Amino acid sequence: TYVVTDACIRCKYMDCVEVCPVDCFYEGENMLVINPSECIDCGVCEPECPAEAILPDTEGGLEQWLEVNATFSAQWPNV
Ligand code: SF4
Repeated sequence: TYVVTDACIRCKYMDCVEVCPVDCFYEGENMLVINPSECIDCGVCEPECPAEAILPDTEGGLEQWLEVNATFSAQWPNV
């Protein structure tokens, strides 16, 4: 899965949302998150993010952000 990280906070350009083929972005007050069980790992959102906030979880060291994405994608509205 791809993971939204802290570079997204108060950015929200939303370019990623436009390109995601499975609509798996969710929006909170300060950032977006990706639902890891819906993301199909296509990778098209990563280069679209002007803040470079989206990374593949294969990067390593993203466990906490993966948890944030999983938790809040279940609570926030789909965008
Ligand atoms: Fe959507 Fe693809 Fe990005 Fe996953 S990697 S969030 S499916 S655009």
